[in-house]
Amino acid sequence: MAIAQPAFAQFIAPGAAEHRQASALAANIRPSTSQGFCGKSSPAIGLTSMCCGAIAAIASKPTARHAAAVKKKGVKVVEGIEIPWNIFSPKAPYKAKCRSNVTLTTKTSLVNWQSTHVVIDTEGKYPYAEGQSAGVISPGPDKNGKSPAKLRLYSIASSACGDDETNKTVSLCVKRVIEVAGKGWCDYSNVEPGTDPEYPDAEKVYRGVCSSHICDLKPGDECLITGPTGAEMLLPTDPKANIIMLATGTGIAPFRSFLRKLFHDKATKGQFQGVAWLFLGVPFSGSILYDDEWAEMKKQFPAQFRYDYAISDETKRPNGQSMYVQHRMQEYIDDMWPLIQDENTHIYMCGLKGMASGMEEAIGPSCEKEGIVAKDFLKAMKKSGRYHVEVY
Ligand code: FAD
Ligand code: NAP
Repeated sequence: MAIAQPAFAQFIAPGAAEHRQASALAANIRPSTSQGFCGKSSPAIGLTSMCCGAIAAIASKPTARHAAAVKKKGVKVVEGIEIPWNIFSPKAPYKAKCRSNVTLTTKTSLVNWQSTHVVIDTEGKYPYAEGQSAGVISPGPDKNGKSPAKLRLYSIASSACGDDETNKTVSLCVKRVIEVAGKGWCDYSNVEPGTDPEYPDAEKVYRGVCSSHICDLKPGDECLITGPTGAEMLLPTDPKANIIMLATGTGIAPFRSFLRKLFHDKATKGQFQGVAWLFLGVPFSGSILYDDEWAEMKKQFPAQFRYDYAISDETKRPNGQSMYVQHRMQEYIDDMWPLIQDENTHIYMCGLKGMASGMEEAIGPSCEKEGIVAKDFLKAMKKSGRYHVEVY
């Protein structure tokens, strides 16, 4: 069965009808029904002349992200485009191999300071779309003593063509979950007291089962993966759409997948015509993820890409409280608000559950000025398929 290669399925340049058709055929997908462009010139970041739409327009726009029922095994149709869907089940996972595993962060005072970037070799047998997640089954035992452990989901951090652009790998960005008594919250223990290599004196240590398995993978090690799955965080099909991304910690993963497609990969770079603005929230400077990649993209696409960090333990707000992504975003609200109102703008949020209410906080004052209730505004945005939230 041929599966859609999403690298070809999205961001097809306007007017390139032949390319669209050929790509669709090459990928054996049904092209989506025409998704008319907004016809307005794409805004440059920082310009308040960004095209904007009224809330009425947002509310009246039909629901864009309507996932249809699964028709073929291993495929789901979303907005007329087939995307790979649960090709590998927990009962029959794909036996992949770790290609590389690199720690992205530097040690901080937090026990769970480590996040790694893992590239998994799939030999081209695991197609996926940007914004989807992969399941990982670790050998276990899990917290209930079961082996193998129940699968855990991880947002895919590579674009569909993979980090080496050969369609043969999938990358994950994984935080090593550790809990140590006396160093923050630790209710459970799965390490024999006195035997933990890092915390031998701790009364209790809990090491996340799947995250430890992934963070410990060495090149050549087997890694069982399921999926791909998830349709909430897909990129818009319109190359002129604007994208605002809010991430906390490893919630950066789907955005790395987006941004590599837009600003890095040879096959797709240069096709995107909108604006992409990334906000990343982490506790310390040493916890920032993929900084060099963002810097390079910014260098190459200064008018289209912008990124800002909220470093909670190092930067305080005027009221003395921690700086979170929503507060950083609020600092730029004069530029952001017209962009957010633009009916061609999508907002994506990924990471900690707690950040979901932050968006309301960020746009609250702007909504109030216009007599709009922030909650209703976001509801309308969600209904029109422009507000994408995946938090855990
Ligand atoms: P577990 O071993 O499952 O432990 C998790 C928690 O359970 C710990 O806090 C532990 O104290 C507690 N616990 C232990 N024993 C018990 C018990 N007996 N009873 C109750 N609780 C207990 N994470 C990332 O790092 N990167 C990603 O890109 C990412 N993407 C995600 C995408 C989605 C859609 C979702 C839903 C989650 C994502 N996650 C991601 C989180 C990831 O799926 C895992 O939840 C995380 O790695 C922890 O899994 P673990 O097996 O290591 O931890
Ligand atoms: P982290 O490195 O701890 O960073 C999280 C940052 O967000 C910290 O700076 C933290 O500040 C801040 N923060 C805390 N509460 C916040 C709030 N209410 N609003 C905004 N920011 C807030 O992150 P992490 O440990 O990697 O955690 C990422 C989480 O995302 C994990 O729970 C992971 O499971 C989940 N995740 C989900 C998905 C998904 O659903 N697709 C994908 C990837 C990751 P403080 O220093 O004050 O705590």
